Amino acid sequence: MRQLVLLILICGSLKGISQRTKITADKVFDGLAMREHWGVIVEKNKIVQVGPKDQLGEADQSFDFPGGTMMPGMIEGHSHVLLYPYDQTGWNDQVLKESRSLRAIRGSKMATKNLYAGFTTIRDLGSEGAGYADVAIKQSIEEGIIEGPRMLVAGRAIVATGSYGPKGFHPDFDVPLGAEAADGERLISVTRDQIGKGADFVKVYADYRWGPDKTAMPTFSIDELKLIVETAASSGRDVVAHAATAEGMRRATLAGVKTIEHGSAATLEVLKLMKENNVALCPTLAATHAVTQYFDGWDGQNPEPEKILNKRQLIKDALKSGVTIVAGGDVGVFPHGENVRELELMVDYGMSEIEVLKSVTSINAEVFGLSSLGILKEGFLADIVVVGGDPTQNISALREVKMVMKDGKRYK
Ligand SMILES: [Zn+2]
Repeated sequence: MRQLVLLILICGSLKGISQRTKITADKVFDGLAMREHWGVIVEKNKIVQVGPKDQLGEADQSFDFPGGTMMPGMIEGHSHVLLYPYDQTGWNDQVLKESRSLRAIRGSKMATKNLYAGFTTIRDLGSEGAGYADVAIKQSIEEGIIEGPRMLVAGRAIVATGSYGPKGFHPDFDVPLGAEAADGERLISVTRDQIGKGADFVKVYADYRWGPDKTAMPTFSIDELKLIVETAASSGRDVVAHAATAEGMRRATLAGVKTIEHGSAATLEVLKLMKENNVALCPTLAATHAVTQYFDGWDGQNPEPEKILNKRQLIKDALKSGVTIVAGGDVGVFPHGENVRELELMVDYGMSEIEVLKSVTSINAEVFGLSSLGILKEGFLADIVVVGGDPTQNISALREVKMVMKDGKRYK
């Protein structure tokens, strides 16, 4: 009996240590720079070696990708797995007419699409009326019930009373909102409650389209925003702010948020202020690109409408200001799995391919506090993708996903 146990122990340990996987490619973007003929060795869920092909050690299995580019698993900076494109079903109808169960089931499928598009981590920016279904989807992935990316989730998100939608109902009628309304001192308990229910970070709407004629106008005061930031910080969490107006961005920046989402009407001054305060910009170009087509009748061709020209200007000013740019498209507004669209627009609007590749890997990882992701480096987690062609020559090469590995497990 004792011998049998010993045998099982030996077999178990041999199996445990023997699985080394070598992955090599003609080009390797390691999260920082492009290398030629490099590779990695993966053991369990970690990268144990990175370097030139001919200097890598032995492995039990090898995969070579001639003509391909290996890189860290991409990180989506702004997703909503609980939303799908508004030209299929409007946002109001998704929030008001679909059950939370339906939305969660659909959302889990959407999460999977992000993974197979090469995005091994997503920062999901609010459940938009689906409560904590994002926390449940994240948990289902971690428990292996469904396939999906690593998730950082916001939960319900916080809005100022009276500002957020759905709107346009009889005032006596309480409609479920797309986020949780709170103001003043109550922001402390709401922030803590959202954290307690699973939010990895807190999202707040620093402005919204509630001005005259539905123009975007600031919502919370700086003091209110500071209260949220301070409360979240004591639990070790960041706050991220939706803000389209320069004033909303200014308040959020001075309150100490980590990133500002959208920034459509940013000025060079406020972008410089963000840079000084170490606040990153998530420009969500692809969302603007999509909604301008859904609702303003734009055909996607020239001449480009004002909203698109504003986003082009935003990238120009952002580059001039030196603010950190994270990559996040607001995917969900446009189809899940089409995440690369944001990266294509970043290049189209004036960023270099290498800057965009850094944004979607090492920069996103650093800004989001993912300390062992975003770089192909010894000891880092084995989140790796291989794409066809060279994305530093043509960013759309990122669409041709050849292999996806998350946590050392191959999905494609
Ligand atoms: Zn969003």
